[in-house]
Amino acid sequence: MKDLFCLLIFFILTIESALALPRTVSVILKDKNDRCDKIGLTAPFRVKDKTFGRGKFVLQTTDNDEVELFEILARKTLVKQRVIEITPVLSGVRLGERKYAGVLKVRANKYLEVINIVPSKDYVESVVGSELPPHFEDEAYKALAVLTLTRLELLGASSTRLATSIVDSTQYENYTGLQAVSPRIKSCVQAVINKRLFYGSHQAPKVYYHSACAGGTSSAESVFGEGGRGLKYLKGVKCDYCQESPFWREKEHNVPRQKFLKLFGGKFPTVEESDKEGRPTRIAFNNKKSSGYKVWLSLGRTFGWGAVPGNKYNFSDSPDPKFVVLRSRGAGHGVGLCQWGANEQAKQGKTYREILKFYFPDCQIR
Ligand SMILES: [Zn+2]
Repeated sequence: MKDLFCLLIFFILTIESALALPRTVSVILKDKNDRCDKIGLTAPFRVKDKTFGRGKFVLQTTDNDEVELFEILARKTLVKQRVIEITPVLSGVRLGERKYAGVLKVRANKYLEVINIVPSKDYVESVVGSELPPHFEDEAYKALAVLTLTRLELLGASSTRLATSIVDSTQYENYTGLQAVSPRIKSCVQAVINKRLFYGSHQAPKVYYHSACAGGTSSAESVFGEGGRGLKYLKGVKCDYCQESPFWREKEHNVPRQKFLKLFGGKFPTVEESDKEGRPTRIAFNNKKSSGYKVWLSLGRTFGWGAVPGNKYNFSDSPDPKFVVLRSRGAGHGVGLCQWGANEQAKQGKTYREILKFYFPDCQIR
């Protein structure tokens, strides 16, 4: 009887751990690349056992690489130390323009480094609200929540070191704190809190999504090359559902020719190969070859994502010799779920399960 009881407990624990989200996520809000040496902080909040009920404050670096908590009205330094940990008194702490759930750890390392240690559920709610516009449908919210939950759980399982490498931008997932969260988002996340995307008996090891595919998604292998190999469940599907997206139509931008050529060692590049959706897969320049995805990333980082929002892109000479024309369709890399397509499907009455099944046909949701 006792053995049976132990066995039962073992199974319960195993099932639980298979579906365990990390309790908290560490998100980098500022690092030294942001070169921020001063940021506003609004009460109420707590530092150690001291509560600051009202007033406006700044966190700033000192010459000794400490963080100083300075009260603006009283012109007074209240705390000065290497790391300051700020905890909320109410639902969150207002830092700069945003409000965050969980703890803020602020460190001085020439510039301010801010990490938000946020409960996983708050994180997922914020990602859903930061990634998707407020007018999107519930079932689209739920589909994205399942993907974020799946990502988060795998991240939690991989290592704590990795967890701290999450950034708050679309480079990982967009996370803008509490103001992105509405009661509707909270109930959508709650509705799918135990659902994950599975491929066979395991949770899908990599889960991707993007804003708009503009006609069809691409396989992970064709976009990410080596990094996408083996992710067979991430294959391309036709999608005309994202026509409402502002990125459905082709965008055209002129960029300075000199700056463009500099990226390619001074020679005009050639698209040697594209996938069937029209996303370049191999680009040749100056006796080198690069993947279309890598070139897209460097174009976006150099000229801004507004100049080349989608990975379905090309370039050509401009009538004005000082410029090169960049053209692109869609927004994002084009792998996995198409957010605008998911929303249109939700409008047409599809459930989050049907939406996920459409973009990940070989996967299961459970
Ligand atoms: Zn689409």
